[in-house]
Amino acid sequence: MELRWDPILREWIIVSGERGKRPLLPEGFCPFCPGSEEVPKSGWTVLSIPNKFPSLRPDPPKPDIKCDRLYRCRPARGVCEVVIYTPRHDATLADLSVENIRAVVDLWTERFEELSKRDYVKYVFIFENKGRVIGVTLDHPHGQIYAFPFIPPLIKRELESSKQYWKRNGRCLFCTIIEKEKRDSTRVICENDDFICFLPFFAHWPYGVHIYPKRHLSALTDLTDGEKDSFASILKWILRKFDNLFNTSFPYMMVLHQRPTDNKPYPYYHFHVEFYPPYREKNKLKYFASVETGAGTVTFDYTPEAKAKELRDSPET
Ligand code: ZN
Ligand code: ZN
Ligand code: FE
Repeated sequence: MELRWDPILREWIIVSGERGKRPLLPEGFCPFCPGSEEVPKSGWTVLSIPNKFPSLRPDPPKPDIKCDRLYRCRPARGVCEVVIYTPRHDATLADLSVENIRAVVDLWTERFEELSKRDYVKYVFIFENKGRVIGVTLDHPHGQIYAFPFIPPLIKRELESSKQYWKRNGRCLFCTIIEKEKRDSTRVICENDDFICFLPFFAHWPYGVHIYPKRHLSALTDLTDGEKDSFASILKWILRKFDNLFNTSFPYMMVLHQRPTDNKPYPYYHFHVEFYPPYREKNKLKYFASVETGAGTVTFDYTPEAKAKELRDSPET
């Protein structure tokens, strides 16, 4: 395992040859259910455990591939963890009580804080892949955390544009976007005292909503107790809307975008959550095909305004 540098796109690739050989789990066996190997039988609501097949490790092997100044490589140092949302095997984040989701938020915050302290961790990435169509093989509700030894490229891009906006306009790019979306409320899905959820003007995925704290802050650790409750409740709200939209357990990728953890100041960054659900209509998948993947340009075959209305009209109960 190692990191390999792509000198054309200028980004790191995580290569872990042995991960491809992960054993198939026996039918009916769940490694995340209470009482299995690493998971206590009782006494917990949410739990984080090391990923058994990590692509980044605190003590990675030395790269055993020939590298040079163009073909650079470095050890795949970092941390991969799994966050188990509940002991209940047959639930999803959307099914959990707001209190249970709040416990997930608290654990995310705690892991972010702990992993941030390690000197080799430059970015803590919290996410969930949900649904078989995304390639998830374990049904037990869980998310993951990757603690990267570098700032990933999409985050870098967000940092660069928000820094530039801050310099030129003296204010936060994301705060400005929130204000614009609020003023023209056609793409707003739901909001509470502290958070707002909308499909942005520039949405990439048909149901690719963003959630923002209304207060300008850059990480989970900046949230007050009350804001964490509001965060849990807006999460539950949008997840219910997703499930009710097509009467299915809605698949998605969900990512938390926070400031890096390299101890540099990021006053211009604003914490948010992004969703990338793979559906464009009931039973119709949105593929990131040639134009998206090979040219890096998104095609959106609907209007964000119409898709936002669908979600607004979908019940949250
Ligand atoms: Zn299970
Ligand atoms: Zn802001
Ligand atoms: Fe983002």
